[in-house]
Amino acid sequence: MKLPEIEPSALAKKVILVTGAGDGIGKQAAISYAQHGATVILLGKTQFKLEQTYDEIIAAGHAEPMILPLDLNTVEQQYAEDLADAIEQEFGQLDGLLHNASELGAIQPIVNINASEFDQVMQVNFRAQFFLTRSLIPLLLKSQSGSVVFTSSSVAQQARAYWGTYCMSKFASDGMMQLLADEYENTSIRFNSINPGATRTAMRAKAYPADSTDLLKTPEEIMPSYLYLMSDHSHQLNGKIINAQPKANAESLSLPIINVD
Ligand code: NDP
Repeated sequence: MKLPEIEPSALAKKVILVTGAGDGIGKQAAISYAQHGATVILLGKTQFKLEQTYDEIIAAGHAEPMILPLDLNTVEQQYAEDLADAIEQEFGQLDGLLHNASELGAIQPIVNINASEFDQVMQVNFRAQFFLTRSLIPLLLKSQSGSVVFTSSSVAQQARAYWGTYCMSKFASDGMMQLLADEYENTSIRFNSINPGATRTAMRAKAYPADSTDLLKTPEEIMPSYLYLMSDHSHQLNGKIINAQPKANAESLSLPIINVD
């Protein structure tokens, strides 16, 4: 699929919440959304990293973001509902939600995964997303064009040995995306996933320490797909998984996958 040209004001007047906005792809997505006119809510675990993202957005003259330090390990239903109320009070609207934050967990045989490892990775990568999405849907439905974007992975298109809880959590989150897309079909809100593909970040370095990083795309280079999914250009796209970097075998899989050129 060839992505449309995204105009500089494509996200004007939109309020977008980005999780994991202090580092890697999430940081770049928050900056790119702000560059295109959005007011961004920066959610992440480490406050000083969120402040760095905030400072970059302010220095570039974009709309003032909101910083939301939060460890997704602690998110339960009540917290998510309070957060939705707070966002409604502060902004009166929410137009986009990028579920980007994830933990890699340990790369290990499945029989070595213990309960605490499983619970932690599933909490951050899946359970917290469920509570946040569930609580924010009423506010997102008030938007003329609400977009919820989950972050997938190649190991959710074809499971890979030893990728453990991370792999299972990504399948689960794509399943939640498809369930929501079906339930909210023909409403003003859409649900899709993005698979960034190999991207030069701390998580990629941890998973593949021997990588030659120069060969990897930077977060900035994969932003067209992130902008497309938040902009109204994608308003008719629902229940799809976008590969931000094309995958040779993607069309042969029985998944609703779109390859971006
Ligand atoms: P990074 O590790 O660089 O960044 C992850 C972000 O998530 C950080 O900002 C981190 O915050 C935040 N985060 C992690 N745990 C929590 C938590 N418990 N509570 C709140 N925030 C948390 O990862 P990437 O940028 O590489 O990954 C972004 C997304 O893309 C992830 O969903 C990942 O699975 C996916 N992905 C990445 C690929 C790649 O090659 N990079 C390939 C395929 C998928 P802090 O820094 O404060 O800990």
